[in-house]
Amino acid sequence: MTNDIGPPVDRRQGQGASHRRPSTDTVWTALQEWYQQPFDYEWIITHRSTRGLHRSIQNVFGAATLLFAAASILMLFSSRGPQGMLAQAWVGLVLMLQLAVALRWFFGPLPTRRDFIGFAIFGDVGLASVLVLYEPFGGLIGSGLFVVTGALCTYFLSQRWLLAHLAWCAVIVSITTVRACLWSVEDNPTAIAGGLVVFAINSAIPLLAHIAWTAIGRDARRSLLDPLTGLLNRRGVEDAASVLMSSGHALGHSLVIVVVDIDRFKAVNDYFGHDAGDDVIVTVSHRLRELFQRDGVVARTGGEEFLIVFSGPIEHAHDLIYAVGRSLYRPSDPIPITVSVGAAIVSNPSDRWSGGPSIITKATRAADSMMYRAKYDGGNRTATTQL
Ligand code: GH3
Ligand code: MG
Ligand code: MG
Repeated sequence: MTNDIGPPVDRRQGQGASHRRPSTDTVWTALQEWYQQPFDYEWIITHRSTRGLHRSIQNVFGAATLLFAAASILMLFSSRGPQGMLAQAWVGLVLMLQLAVALRWFFGPLPTRRDFIGFAIFGDVGLASVLVLYEPFGGLIGSGLFVVTGALCTYFLSQRWLLAHLAWCAVIVSITTVRACLWSVEDNPTAIAGGLVVFAINSAIPLLAHIAWTAIGRDARRSLLDPLTGLLNRRGVEDAASVLMSSGHALGHSLVIVVVDIDRFKAVNDYFGHDAGDDVIVTVSHRLRELFQRDGVVARTGGEEFLIVFSGPIEHAHDLIYAVGRSLYRPSDPIPITVSVGAAIVSNPSDRWSGGPSIITKATRAADSMMYRAKYDGGNRTATTQL
């Protein structure tokens, strides 16, 4: 588990970005902005809005694959379908693969990013290989099914994969339209109109949906980050902590919540100025991120207050808790600071783990009062409690 849910935010950039309107003066700049956004598959899969929907999403794609298969079966009996033994055998083979893919969607685990790429390639290449065997106008109608792989690219794959799919779709629809003009019983204007409509549906729906999905994802990710430090904020850490908690519980680890508050920080602002105070906050965030990069998540939950959630073996937990104060105080710093640290340890096995995420709230309160105890005892110290 790492502290990042996206690329680290440059603090000045991050602050500016939240006030600046996106440069969408022209459609072209809007498209460029969309194309340059990072696409984070892991985040899409683990985000709370999609986490509970994995099974339903798999069922929808399973049903769509069965739709492909049903169309292939019907076309085997159509006068516009594949003619000749070889063509029918190929369609039959693709049909079997479609059924296997549908079963994988319905009963298999959540596909990985590679699986999604595999499904998209199979969908696009399999469909094209079958369509060229149909009577041209039948093929043109069937190419409407590219919208299914388009939907898959929209939700689970990057902009590049979507564009590759659209380019492939454009080539196949163009070839099918030309074939329909040359060899179909339909007249040319009907064939061209059919080709244009099919291409418009196949490209506009996935493209617009991907643009909207990418923008929503970017804003949702930003809403979980603190713009000054790039660390998670309070909202972001809640989500990350519950993920950490379930993985830690499975490994038999202890859960630890640590609250860190910089001592006499107001004086730093008063003597050195607000910008120097900001620099101190950023330095503290870097050091905490470094210290917990392997074991936990770090958040900035208030002005000069940080929350860390990690899980690990109990001996290791104590070492890490006491490393916090030591790693943040450096006499050689331009503005050396000390911190008050409060920690709450929920050891494993413990009945408290079964209390679910509410244990995180309880442990956070306990860690907070430990931090206040450390503060009232004079600061620059660590107080720990066990739940
Ligand atoms: P204590 O030792 O009791 O923790 O005292 P303190 O001065 O650290 O705590 P107090 O809560 O009195 O002051 C916190 C200060 O942090 C007040 C506020 O101006 C400052 N602060 C909050 N957010 C920021 C920020 O983003 N940047 C800077 N530079 N200062 C901030
Ligand atoms: Mg404070
Ligand atoms: Mg303070």
